[in-house]
Amino acid sequence: MKLKVLVVAGDGIGPEVTLEAVRVLKSVAEFGGHEFHFSEMPIGGVAIRQEGTPLPAATLDAAINSDAVLLGAVGGNEFNSLPPGRRPEAGLLQLRQALKGFANLRPAKAYPELASNSPLRAEVTRDVDILFVRELLGGLYFGEPRCWDRDGGAAWNTMRYTREEVARVAHIAFELAGQRRKKVTSVDKANVLEVSQLWRATVTEVAQQYPGIALEHQYVDACAMHLMNTPRNFDVVLAENLFGDILSDEAAVITGSLGMLPSATIGGTVNLYEPVHGSAPDIAGKGIANPLGAILTGAMLLRHSAGLEQDAQAVELAVARVLEQGYCTADLATTNGVGRRVSTQEMGKLVQQSLNEILDRRQALHAV
Ligand code: NAD
Repeated sequence: MKLKVLVVAGDGIGPEVTLEAVRVLKSVAEFGGHEFHFSEMPIGGVAIRQEGTPLPAATLDAAINSDAVLLGAVGGNEFNSLPPGRRPEAGLLQLRQALKGFANLRPAKAYPELASNSPLRAEVTRDVDILFVRELLGGLYFGEPRCWDRDGGAAWNTMRYTREEVARVAHIAFELAGQRRKKVTSVDKANVLEVSQLWRATVTEVAQQYPGIALEHQYVDACAMHLMNTPRNFDVVLAENLFGDILSDEAAVITGSLGMLPSATIGGTVNLYEPVHGSAPDIAGKGIANPLGAILTGAMLLRHSAGLEQDAQAVELAVARVLEQGYCTADLATTNGVGRRVSTQEMGKLVQQSLNEILDRRQALHAV
């Protein structure tokens, strides 16, 4: 298969972790005889320094003309005095808007070796594997009217959804649940909000097309509590923009480190893949950043843009194996206190080695 990937590594630890993700993707391509073509363009602070703008037209153009965009992170302390619209983060927001992805996928998975990094008890987080599907282009963040009437001393935003906007993201949640444990928990506040009543009615209607998938509805406040008490009960969580933003951050504590979290935004013109963490200026350039979030983001790219589900699973398994062997980057070691501490590059290499073994074995099995 052929795939044109635009790499926008950005600032801080972005280039360090993205390099490891690209290496892993190249291994997959080599093994499977796929043609992955990687090109690189500036975004964020590095683009401001080079071209005076956080999202140069050439970067946007290349993104729109690619099959997938892999982003590192943007932002840096030297840009903190710039107005919001000219800061590195503005480049990422503009890119997300231009690519029009409406479904933001954020897995929250517990790894047994990292259990002590989570503030939750190990018996609560054991075997947790949740996929958040957050609607990204509607709701309170974009609804009109919105206003801060300074003279009148009032401000308002509008949580607005159309049936179509809810239905399209619901279809994605049900389709993904079909490939997992076949359960969708739809989150709303239908006891108070009309927009949530539309959300619930539409999700219920869409569910009829997926008879093999169990649907449950939860109020957002109850869901926030259940996620901490009984996270194992969740498979796919479907939520509107604001609720999904809050709940997916809440569930991130299950994994135990920001450096472990991948994400994908799909459904638009071109899918955008980015680890959840930022540019981490405090550790940039030290070679200690955790590349696993970026590598797992690469696995999401294989799954959602290349259609290579088995390879995506192989990368995820390789990450799990390396953790099983006791290797950890500094962020994983600090609270754990145990483990064989390795650098960003060493961690990337270990995943690659483990992946090669998994792919070798798979090839040998096929050859039999
Ligand atoms: P951050 O995610 O960059 O860092 C928060 C903490 O987590 C830091 O202590 C950092 O060292 C640690 N951390 C993050 N990723 C890590 C990794 N892979 N391995 C090890 N440790 C890791 O968030 P922040 O400090 O609030 O923001 C720093 C800059 O990043 C800001 O300019 C912010 O605007 C930007 N930011 C960008 C994105 C993005 O590009 N998607 C997201 C969040 C923040």
